[in-house]
Amino acid sequence: MDQIRKQSGARLLLALKCFATWSVFDQMRQHMDGTTSSSLYEVKLGQQKFGKETHAYSVAFADHEIDEVISHCDKIIFNSLSQLTRFESRAKKKPVGLRLNPGVSLAGFDLADPARPFSRLGESDPHAILSVIDRISGVMIHNNCENASFERFDALLTEVESRYADVLQQLEWVSLGGGISFTEPDYPVEAFCERLKRFAQDYGVQVYLEPGEAAVRHTTTLEVSVLDVGFRGKHLAVVDSSTEAHMLDLLIYRESAPLGNASGIHQYQVCGKTCLAGDIFGEGLFDQPLQVGDRLSIGDAGGYTMVKKNWFNGIHMPAIAIRKVDGTIELVREFSYDDYVASLS
Ligand SMILES: *Cc1c(COP(=O)(O)O)cnc(C)c1O
Repeated sequence: MDQIRKQSGARLLLALKCFATWSVFDQMRQHMDGTTSSSLYEVKLGQQKFGKETHAYSVAFADHEIDEVISHCDKIIFNSLSQLTRFESRAKKKPVGLRLNPGVSLAGFDLADPARPFSRLGESDPHAILSVIDRISGVMIHNNCENASFERFDALLTEVESRYADVLQQLEWVSLGGGISFTEPDYPVEAFCERLKRFAQDYGVQVYLEPGEAAVRHTTTLEVSVLDVGFRGKHLAVVDSSTEAHMLDLLIYRESAPLGNASGIHQYQVCGKTCLAGDIFGEGLFDQPLQVGDRLSIGDAGGYTMVKKNWFNGIHMPAIAIRKVDGTIELVREFSYDDYVASLS
């Protein structure tokens, strides 16, 4: 994060929809410039718990929340021309932006593709955007998704430049959104920073990035205990957690969690304890046969995980703990039956 900020001049805003575990914001704040949000609650959390620069965005703001949203943000980004027209007079001189949807994206999954047919995410027509250009100071473009290829990021940005040069030239700031995997090992960070710097210079804009996943990938594990083992044509281990309740994206995007270690010789399918037949974390290799009581670490449980936890099947919610650099573990939150009851009525 520090390298990107220093070498590219871009400001980095944490996308709270991916990760909102505020107990670690004191640390993250030292390396990022603020937060961006998807709703009133996120913009409030960003301002109160993270501070620094706070961007407000939502696919649609409601009349009853817009004044409160504006009171908690430094910039407000509208998703459509109609939302801009409806609410711009309420912005009280705060900078106003618009989401620009270039109609091209890098999302392998239809569900997460902002450029899917009939997309409601942002405005695409350059003439329509130019018609309000004196009423906005910037645009937000979010069309990358888990993009680990600098070449493809570069090509997408070039396409945006060729279609929207007239728009970009009249702006003060451009957010290039999230979805860029610049913290993956071997990502060409230098070339990426050069590209961002050139973009900023060519159009005279302050560039923002809105990393979610890239800010927390490989930082977090879900620690579980084995409750039962068995053999149903494969070795199975049932643990005291659930994909649907605690790692929902595994189900939505049909992914497997990182489990075990590559040099192990005992293969297991690690399963959740809900009634859902396909509640499966994935398969992994382990050094020893698994036994009831064994503790397992399920990898990459930071992004889009804690923000999506739910009480399906009434399963005990995992506690939140912070492992410090010196190895000590601080338990920051535990959940109980009372929290389950309080989540319903
Ligand atoms: C989801 C989202 C992000 C964060 O995306 P990551 O893939 O987690 O980096 C940033 N900006 C917007 C507008 C988003 O919708």
